[in-house]
Amino acid sequence: MVERVIEVEDLAKRYPPDTMAIDGISFSIERGRVFSLLGPNGAGKTTTVEILEGLRTPTSGRTRVFDVDTSKDYASIRGRVGILPQNFEPFDNLKPVEAVEYWAKLFDKRKTRKDINEMLDIVGLSERKNLLAKKLSGGEKRKLGIALSLINDPELLFLDEPTTGLDPKARRDLWKLIEEIQGRGTTVLLTTHYLDEAEKLSDDVAIMHRGNIIARGSPSELISRFGKTTVVVLEGVGTDGLTEVTRRGIEATEVDGDVMVPVANPSEMRTIFAKLSSIELPVKDMYTRRQTLEDVFLSLVGTKMDEGVLEE
Ligand code: ATP
Repeated sequence: MVERVIEVEDLAKRYPPDTMAIDGISFSIERGRVFSLLGPNGAGKTTTVEILEGLRTPTSGRTRVFDVDTSKDYASIRGRVGILPQNFEPFDNLKPVEAVEYWAKLFDKRKTRKDINEMLDIVGLSERKNLLAKKLSGGEKRKLGIALSLINDPELLFLDEPTTGLDPKARRDLWKLIEEIQGRGTTVLLTTHYLDEAEKLSDDVAIMHRGNIIARGSPSELISRFGKTTVVVLEGVGTDGLTEVTRRGIEATEVDGDVMVPVANPSEMRTIFAKLSSIELPVKDMYTRRQTLEDVFLSLVGTKMDEGVLEE
């Protein structure tokens, strides 16, 4: 039988006087899955997660973690949960080995030096374990945060925007680590405003927008339900190019100076190419690519989600 680690039903949270941070959302997460709450700044992700972490009380609705009502008896499950808070910063003047040791003591966990070294090895900090935290890079600090969140061998791990602000290499390193953590059977609830991150890591995604879940499914389900299979990209043709293309009855959108032509059925591709090549366009490059969650967000909301900022 499928075990649901998290169940959320009609959850709402209002911050006084009148901010509806969450406006009646429902979802559940099965054991062992990576579930992403994906949305721009202010969508309501952190509020949702903080309720599930027992840190905030809902205005209405039901939230259960390991079948326990999070607003009633969180103490009984706290030991089974690990948390990486948003914008995590370790103590500047502790070395990774010291921080893990200190954290273990806080959680009343006995950790030998060998255990600590193993934990730092899992997160890829072995070679940096004796450096003061203030000397670590942004990505290394997050890795240390993940090591601390794993101190109690959690069955459920909350990662609130683990890669925000990191460079692409550090983000990819963390993705690998999150995949390894899932490989050990841990259920992960990830919040992110990076579409590529949600697509790469998640078994399931809930797209949040203004306190609501506007779409839910695996990345590939979402792409096939809300997107079309392929996009022809006309690079650099701008709004003039868009006008020319749509004038010929071709459905298209313009994003950052490029024109995107979605093609639902591969058999339409030849006709579309024939029509496009008959138009005089100052194309820098023309290529096809598969649709991504970025396209899904664009088609659902009508705007682009970029670096967490909703562009309107
Ligand atoms: P971010 O990526 O910026 O963290 P988010 O999707 O996590 O965004 P929340 O932080 O949950 O969104 O915020 C949802 C809404 O609730 C926003 O309008 C925010 O300004 C508001 N909000 C969040 N915390 C509080 C608070 N403590 N008091 C009042 N309003 C708040």
